[in-house]
Amino acid sequence: MFLGGGRLCALRAVCTCTDLGDDPGVQPSAEIICVGDELLAGDTLDTNSADIARFLRLWGVTVRRAVSVADGEAAIVGALEDALGADLCVVTGGLGPTGDDLTAAAVASAAGVDRVRSPAAIEAITARLAARGHACDEVQLRQAEVPAGATIVDNPIGIAPGFALDLRGTLVVCLPGVPTEVRAMLEGLASLLRARLGDALGPRPRRILRVFGLREGDLAGRLEPIFAALGLEAAGAVVHYRARGPEIEVTIDVGGAPSALVDAAISRAREALGDAVYGLGEADLAARVVAALIAAELRVASAESCTGGRVAAAITGIAGSSACFHGAIVAYDNGVKSGVLGVDEAILAEHGAVSEPVARAMAEGVRVALAGHADIGVGITGIAGPGGGSPAKPVGTVDFAVSDGERTTHRRLHLRGDRSTIQAHATAWALWLVWERLRERGLAEVTELAELA
Ligand code: AMP
Ligand code: MG
Repeated sequence: MFLGGGRLCALRAVCTCTDLGDDPGVQPSAEIICVGDELLAGDTLDTNSADIARFLRLWGVTVRRAVSVADGEAAIVGALEDALGADLCVVTGGLGPTGDDLTAAAVASAAGVDRVRSPAAIEAITARLAARGHACDEVQLRQAEVPAGATIVDNPIGIAPGFALDLRGTLVVCLPGVPTEVRAMLEGLASLLRARLGDALGPRPRRILRVFGLREGDLAGRLEPIFAALGLEAAGAVVHYRARGPEIEVTIDVGGAPSALVDAAISRAREALGDAVYGLGEADLAARVVAALIAAELRVASAESCTGGRVAAAITGIAGSSACFHGAIVAYDNGVKSGVLGVDEAILAEHGAVSEPVARAMAEGVRVALAGHADIGVGITGIAGPGGGSPAKPVGTVDFAVSDGERTTHRRLHLRGDRSTIQAHATAWALWLVWERLRERGLAEVTELAELA
C-alpha cells in the first residue's frame, strides 16, 4: 500500500485518532526524532531537523521538540513515548539494511505489533536496485520489514522506503537518515499531511525584516519601544530576533494581528533603522546582492585571502548567479596577490598583506585579472587566526575593498570569534560592502523578496 490522500483511514485501524481538520484555530503540533549514534558523537551535524522543521512550518505545523537519540531500540521507543500527544512525529535515520538500523523494530515494539514484509516496499526496493543494475538480496529486503499496519512512504531517490503508522493518536512518519532523501520525501508527505491535518492547514503568516551590522541587543532596544507603542504583540503578533553573524532577521509571526498594524510596525522599524535594513522576506543578503547585480547587469568578482573563496561560494550558492558571477581568485599567498592580482610587492612589504592598500589593490587587480568578466571587484585580506595576530593587527582584523571602476572604497573591521566565525562574518561583510556600493549607485533597494528559485 502506498501513501495517498485517502490512505490515512487505513491507519486508524491501528488506533483511533483525532481529525485535526475540524478546528482551524488549533495549530497542529509535531515532534522530530533523529536516530543515529553519529549525531550524538558529534560526527554528523543534524540538518534533518532543520529541514523538517522548515517544511512543517510552511504547512502551519508547530514543532514543539526535536531530539537526537542513539541507535538503540530502547532509546527510540523512549523518544516515541515522549512524543505521544503531538499530532505528528517525524523520525529520521535507522531505516537501512544494517544491524544498527532499528527504527522499524522500535516503532513496531512501541505500537505492540509485529514487523511484516510489505509487498509495496519489496516492489519499490527491487525496482530501485534494478534501476542501479543491482539484484535484490536478503540484506536489502530487511528494509521492507515495517510494523504491521504501516503505510509505505515512497523514497524517490534512495533504496530504503519510509513508512507511516498511527501510534495512539500520533501519526509517526519514519524516513531514512540521508538528508537528500529526507528532503525529497518531505515533498511527498504533503498529501499525507493534508489528509491527516485537514484543509485548514496552511503556513502561519510571518513577515521578516532583514537587518545588517547592528548588534542584536541594540536592535531590540530600538525596535521594542516601537512595537510596544503600536501594541503589536498585544494584538497577537510575536517578534523573534535571529542573528546570523552580522545579519539579523527580525521575524514577526503575525498571529491574530491585523495586517495594517504589521505594515505600520514594519514601516516604523524601517524608519528607525535606515539603511541597516536591506530587505523584507525570506531571501538573504547573498540572494539580494545577486538579484541586484543581475538587475543592474553587472558582474562581481572576489579576490579573497582570509575568506578562502567563501564569498564566491556564497554567490554561487544562489541559483542563477552565473548571470552576475564568472569567477574569483583565491589569493592566499602573497605570491598570488602580486603575481596574479598585480599587487605591488613593495606595497606588500611596506604595509603587510593585511592592509588598506593591499585590499584596494586586490579589488582593483581582480577586475583587471578577470577583464571582461568582472565589473565590480571585492578584495578581502585579514587575519582569521588563531595565529598570525599582532598588537597592531590582532586576530580578526580584516581589510575590505570594493572597486567598480568609478572608485574604490575601503573598510577595516575587527571581527571577533574563532577562525570559522571570522571567515563567515568576513564573507557576510564583503557581500554587504558590495550591497552598499550598489545602493550608493541607486542599484540596490529594499524589496519584498522570497527565496530565489
Ligand atoms: P541512516 O539512515 O541512519 O543509515 O543514516 C544515513 C546517513 O545519513 C548517516 O550516515 C548520516 O551521515 C546521515 N544522517 C543521519 N541522520 C542525520 C541527520 N539528522 N542530519 C544529517 N544527516 C544525517
Ligand atoms: Mg543510522
